[in-house]
Amino acid sequence: MIGLKTPAAILRRLLMPTAEPCLACGRSISSVSPAELPQLCENCAGQIPWIMEPRCRICGRVHGCPDCLRPEAQRRPFVINRSAAVYDDLMRQWIAEYKYGGREDFASPFSIMLEQTYHRMCQELSVQEKAHGGRTYNRKGRSWRPDVVTWVPVSVRRLEERGFNQTELMARQMALRLRLPAAELLIRSVHTDKQSKKTRAQRLHNLDDAFSLIPNLDPWGFLKWDPIGNTKHPGGPFPIRVLLVDDIYTTGTTAAVCSTALKRLEKIVDRPVFVYILTLARS
Ligand SMILES: [Zn+2]
Ligand SMILES: [Zn+2]
Repeated sequence: MIGLKTPAAILRRLLMPTAEPCLACGRSISSVSPAELPQLCENCAGQIPWIMEPRCRICGRVHGCPDCLRPEAQRRPFVINRSAAVYDDLMRQWIAEYKYGGREDFASPFSIMLEQTYHRMCQELSVQEKAHGGRTYNRKGRSWRPDVVTWVPVSVRRLEERGFNQTELMARQMALRLRLPAAELLIRSVHTDKQSKKTRAQRLHNLDDAFSLIPNLDPWGFLKWDPIGNTKHPGGPFPIRVLLVDDIYTTGTTAAVCSTALKRLEKIVDRPVFVYILTLARS
């Protein structure tokens, strides 16, 4: 209330619509940022280290990428990963507040960040599929589009600790705005210790069999399309495209293990299942 000296000025201030404070810094938002994140002030939104043009076309990294050059990477069970931003100090802080600080309100800007990255991903994959003669055959001739959006689950214990699965929340918000079907497909059967404290080999071992398809899954229920109608396609039955959302992509281990579990859908639906990864931050 500094500078509001006269009663008329105080009245004017009281009658003015209150500006929402920025989620990240708490200052009032005077104008919507060019990134169209209405919950963040222009200054905070301007600091987001967006990945607009990833150097690695596989894992979406901004720098050159030794991981994707390893021979075993050829057997990676997902098609690509795309991340919204670099996992820098700012993103680390925001994600920590969201995951451990009870700041559920971050789901909104995060889901918008995912949505914007999703649109870039669609464009890129549509061009790619066209170049490959429609390798994954577009149903109804439309551009690349996933059949279902899902997320990396957390264990029951972690869910009890946090009260919600932060990845599910932002994935669902994104899917709702994009009018894409969203479904819970995976469960985390083993409670794993914090991944960050482990070596690559330990991480791989620790995560093996940690994820599985939810029991009694009815894929045609969530896919909402008729499997009978398209089996006569000259290229064979249409594959199912699953978009898997996670918060951070580090080594790609979680993405790979979850994709392997999701690909077990192939036996149930009797057609190929392609998994695409969409993450908020890339380390
Ligand atoms: Zn701010
Ligand atoms: Zn890579």
